Amino acid sequence: MTPLAKALSARISQTGPITVAAFMEECLSHPEHGYYATRDPLGTDGDFITAPEISQMFGECLGLALAQAWLDAGRPSPFALVELGPGRGTLMADILRATAIVPGFAAAAQVHLVETSPALRARQAEVLSHANSQWHDGLGTVPDLPLFLVANEFFDALPVRQFQRSEAGWRERMVGVDGTALSFGLGPETQFASLEHRLNDTTPGDLVETCAAGVAIAAEIGQRIASVGGAALLIDYGDWRSLGDTLQAVQAHQTVDPLKSPGAADLTCHVDFEALAEAAAPARHSRLVTQCDLLQRLGIEARTKALAAKLDGSALEAHVTAYHRLTAASEMGTLFKALALFPAGAAPPPGFET
Ligand code: SAH
Repeated sequence: MTPLAKALSARISQTGPITVAAFMEECLSHPEHGYYATRDPLGTDGDFITAPEISQMFGECLGLALAQAWLDAGRPSPFALVELGPGRGTLMADILRATAIVPGFAAAAQVHLVETSPALRARQAEVLSHANSQWHDGLGTVPDLPLFLVANEFFDALPVRQFQRSEAGWRERMVGVDGTALSFGLGPETQFASLEHRLNDTTPGDLVETCAAGVAIAAEIGQRIASVGGAALLIDYGDWRSLGDTLQAVQAHQTVDPLKSPGAADLTCHVDFEALAEAAAPARHSRLVTQCDLLQRLGIEARTKALAAKLDGSALEAHVTAYHRLTAASEMGTLFKALALFPAGAAPPPGFET
């Protein structure tokens, strides 16, 4: 049993079952035993690997899309270049390197990183030591400047609540204790006005998820973009509307039981992009696009070839494999999706359409 499992089962035994969201929050962010609070989980030696860690081309393509959106917006200066959940800082480093060729972009950019993990903040500070970055616990303290924002695999790390449809309402999935082990159960049948729109596409027994934290952040991004301008690129695994239990625990690149090692495994859920897009109004949103289609539209094939021309042997092989991992349907290409937010009256950022 992990130390967090012990603490949680003691707490639940005393005060009763907790929501899946409260469970996720404790597992990911507990100051002493939380997953992100205590480690750098990324990379081949860690628990999982993300697109920016696979190839520099991911950040280059997204960076140039953001820079074009900035040019199209009339080169606002200064502006906030924001990343939510920057991990090892790789994506922002690649964005800054690729956009250095865009006249005026770097000089106008103020880099703001929203990150709660002390371990990852330290890592980002090393990688981005040249960038004069500022760190924040949330968007609220980021200056209210035109906002050019990127978030990759950020929203999937936010806590969700799960509700199972019953005959006359919904029962919330809860984490309780069976003996000494953590176990899932269902709360009492309740009506939830916020789930009324899901009565059309579900039948009793179906499970739906809501992510209040993600919705609140999308609303804040949308409000800023609508009032001061900018663009946001949100990339994550998920779909337009989530259905079913998508809670997943990953440890050392393997899927594990989410209740088995609280605090020691990464927990994620699929992102419900419809909920984010709607929360972001009055900003407009693009159509959801697969990671493969987005990167192809942004020119990843030409970039792959240009970089390949300078490589040979195992380096060339690794480069081609990385291209494949980012774009193939059997890898990340279609599982991962992207949504753009932009002001009314503006065109969607490059690679996106409405
Ligand atoms: N974007 C990076 C890392 C993804 S992992 C990449 O693509 O490689 C998720 C990141 O979000 C980590 O940096 C984690 O510490 C951060 N994070 C998770 N929950 C957060 C929260 N509530 N607020 C801010 N950052 C959070």
